[in-house]
Parts: sequence; C-alpha cells; structure tokens
Amino acid sequence: MAGYAGITAGYLIRGSRPCLVETGTAASAPVVRAALAALGVGAADLATVVVTHIHLDHAGGTGDIAAMYPGAEVVVHVKGARHLADPSRLMAGARAVYGSALDRLFGELAPVPADRIVALDDVGSIDLGDGRRLDSHYSPGHAKHHVGLIDSASGDLYVGDAAGVYIPETGDLRPATPPPDFDQETALASLRRFAALRPSRLLFSHYGPVTDVDATLARSAEEIDVWVSRTREARAAGMDLDHAVAMVRSRTLSRYAVLGPDADPALAARFERMTGPALNVQGIWGWLDKLETPVG
Ligand SMILES: [Zn+2]
Repeated sequence: MAGYAGITAGYLIRGSRPCLVETGTAASAPVVRAALAALGVGAADLATVVVTHIHLDHAGGTGDIAAMYPGAEVVVHVKGARHLADPSRLMAGARAVYGSALDRLFGELAPVPADRIVALDDVGSIDLGDGRRLDSHYSPGHAKHHVGLIDSASGDLYVGDAAGVYIPETGDLRPATPPPDFDQETALASLRRFAALRPSRLLFSHYGPVTDVDATLARSAEEIDVWVSRTREARAAGMDLDHAVAMVRSRTLSRYAVLGPDADPALAARFERMTGPALNVQGIWGWLDKLETPVG
C-alpha cells in the first residue's frame, strides 16, 4: 500500500472455489493479481472475493479486482454493498478524512457491477467448494459494515480490523477506532462474538496470523478500553482534540515495543501508518460527542 510492503494482507483460500479475502487498495490490485498468478490462480479461476469491510485499505481494489476476475462474486456486508456499486459517497467521505493524501494512500475505488455483488446479513456463508464454507459474522464497532469470516475446515477467523492492528515483528497490538462508526460497547461485543466462535487462529488484515487466540482477543479488548479511558481523561482535563491526540499517544507509548527507544524506526513508521493515533482518538472523540449530546 502506497509503496509500503506489509500494510494490508490479502488472503487466498485455495480449493475448488478459490476465494480472495481483502483486495487491498486500488493501486495494489496489480500486485494482488501477480501474487495470485504465482499461486496458479488465473483470471477465470477466482470464485469469490470477500471484504471484511469497505474501508479503502481493505476494499479499495474491489472494482479493479472484479474486472480482472470476471467470474468472481463480490461478497460484502449489506451495509457496504451499495457503496461498492456506487462508491461516490464513500470516496467523498474518505477525501474528507484524508484530504490530498487520499490519492497517494489509496487511489480510487472503481464501481463493482451491482449484479455481481452478494450482500451478507448478520450471518452468511460463502461456498468454498467440497463442503467447505466461509461463514460470516457481523462484527460492527470499528465500522458498521464489518464482518468476521471463519473457515469451516481450518477454523481460521479473518478478523479484519475488529481486533485492532497486530505487528508480527514485535507482537504489539493497538486498537483501530477511527471515525465515524467507532462504538466501544459494540466493538467489545464483536470481540466476544469472535471468542465464542472458538477459532484456531486469528488472521489480521494488518498483519498476519496469530495462534494465541484467547490472549490476543483479551488484549484487543484491553487496548480499546485503555484508549477510551485516556481519551476521556483528556476531555475531562478540557483539552482540545489536537492536545488529546498528543497526550493519548504519549501516555500509551510504553505499551508498544515497536515504538520503544530500541525499535526499528522503519517498523515504527509502518505501525503508525497502520494505526494512526490521531484517527484512533478522533474516532473515540466523535463517539463520546454523540454519547454526551442530550437527546430530545
Ligand atoms: Zn484497515
């Protein structure tokens, strides 16, 4: 993504009905196509493309990938489906958040033909062939169009961004709580739903597999709680958003080895790119604004 390796993972599930989980950005689509070709998956072979949610680092390449693989169905939660068919509102919203950096980071999401989109409800299922399924479970909190996907054969659970961002090199985990949908209770409920599925591994979109499932999901919940608590403290102290971001960042710094004094600066920069503290605090801030707005 944006010239960096190891930002967003896409996963190929091999079998008689090959399935791609996450497309990455539009600019990454040729990279994904080359990787699939190297694995023996040609233009006519891919049966399904599924995205955990429609943020551009996960789904920005969906239109391009759909064009490259004309036989593939495109699977997404029902709350994201219309945005893949007509990305104009999604792109305008992303531009409002990212400004001029949007083109460099993500590129343009091309529309997916509506008749190729399969919309998932709160639970759904993708046929992987030979009796194997990829079952989807609605998991809002990070985004209101987010699903987790569990492989009936392997027990692998594709967690998208619902469990935060994981750095394999250091084992760090930081939450992903961006605007405009973040909601603490909803996010924690999704993590409990994941734990109840008893997955064998967690496959993070950022980045890679984790086998220590229970401890990692507990850490995901703890991370959300810590960031919400620190943001609440900044608000209680009367800080504005910019000062809150700086304060929360510095008061959580010691939690992450990747940001420590001995860490690799390139790795630290990649971590900050994947889970920017500004976006996290903005998301929590906006949710607290809504909570504290009197109703009626
Ligand atoms: Zn993401």
